[in-house]
Amino acid sequence: MTAAMKKIAVLPGDGIGAEIVAQALRVLRALAPLGLRIETIEAPVGGTAYELSGDPLPTATLDLARSADAILFGSVGGWQWDKLARDKRPEQAILGLRKALGLFANLRPAVIYDELAAASTLRPELVSGMDVLIIRELTGDIYFGQPRGLRTNASGEREGFDTMHYAESEIRRIARVGFEAARKRQRRLCSVDKANVLETSQLWRDVVTEVAADYTDVALSHMYVDNAAMQLLRNPRQFDVIVTGNMFGDILSDEASMLTGSIGMLPSASLDAHGKGLYEPIHGSAPDIAGRDIANPLATILSAAMLLRYSLGEEKFALSIERAVRRVLQQGLRTADIAQPGETSIGTCAMGDAVVAAVVAAAGERDDA
Ligand code: NAD
Repeated sequence: MTAAMKKIAVLPGDGIGAEIVAQALRVLRALAPLGLRIETIEAPVGGTAYELSGDPLPTATLDLARSADAILFGSVGGWQWDKLARDKRPEQAILGLRKALGLFANLRPAVIYDELAAASTLRPELVSGMDVLIIRELTGDIYFGQPRGLRTNASGEREGFDTMHYAESEIRRIARVGFEAARKRQRRLCSVDKANVLETSQLWRDVVTEVAADYTDVALSHMYVDNAAMQLLRNPRQFDVIVTGNMFGDILSDEASMLTGSIGMLPSASLDAHGKGLYEPIHGSAPDIAGRDIANPLATILSAAMLLRYSLGEEKFALSIERAVRRVLQQGLRTADIAQPGETSIGTCAMGDAVVAAVVAAAGERDDA
């Protein structure tokens, strides 16, 4: 029986968004003759959508995103929209999509490609082979807790306050995402909190430990966030999957991504409770290089691989894309952002060409190759 056709909403956005998403689409389409059944529908988002309709997240775009099985997102933003009222800014589109679609789990792999290890801020021997998946809760914690605000206290001094807050159900569902992801990898999950100081974190630790009873095949450990920040620099290879709250994840995922040395290489996924997700590179719209065919499309291409893995259940095709990316790097192909001094670089489209060629070759290989 042939698999049902899956619908992907394609939202290229602004700046380099259209250039990099075009390459990811070419790679996905190259898998069609090998059995991948997808239909792609494109819609405007961000500043591009604002110019067309006065709204960075038009209803038609949101409806398309709601009805799709997954969303491939480029990036939004640009200096020409920076002075708009906050609710009209391109960046509101991504926040609006997260909220409307209930995308509570942010997955960010930080993988070192040995060919690029010299670009890391750590010595190559420390990062070589690093492959960490950071899972950050995205819709709770101190960023959304109430009450919050600014006030003047009894002695006339201004003070600011925020509330760290997690409900048991919010912790339980992100913990499950962590355990499920670990099951697809090396079966090791490290939960990061600050349970020695924070009540919210003590609840976090208790609930994650309770959920572990359903995942006896996954080794669970707990780590305080200050130690985790230190361990990521000391020995990042000790980690497989890290699960943590919104604020700690915000900081640790940026730290981990820097260890890989290349913003143009890192994909991400934001998932809802049913595995539907929005997939995007972690970088922004890079207006400084837009329209020049020099942007690195690999983070977006790797985001498409995550889309196949987490929303479409197409592990085999996801692996084909990831192998293809490794292969083009092994061939010495580099866009300008990842080229070392003295190395020649190729453009966005040429990098897309190389991955398309490699993906077809990789798809023909055995799964355990
Ligand atoms: P940025 O990530 O766009 O760019 C930072 C630097 O990295 C720039 O020098 C850029 O040229 C380079 N760079 C980024 N991606 C690259 C790629 N694929 N290939 C080669 N070089 C790349 O961050 P910024 O300059 O701070 O922000 C630009 C705009 O992007 C802003 O409007 C910001 O709000 C927006 N932004 C959007 C998202 C998103 O859509 N999710 C995320 C971050 C920033």
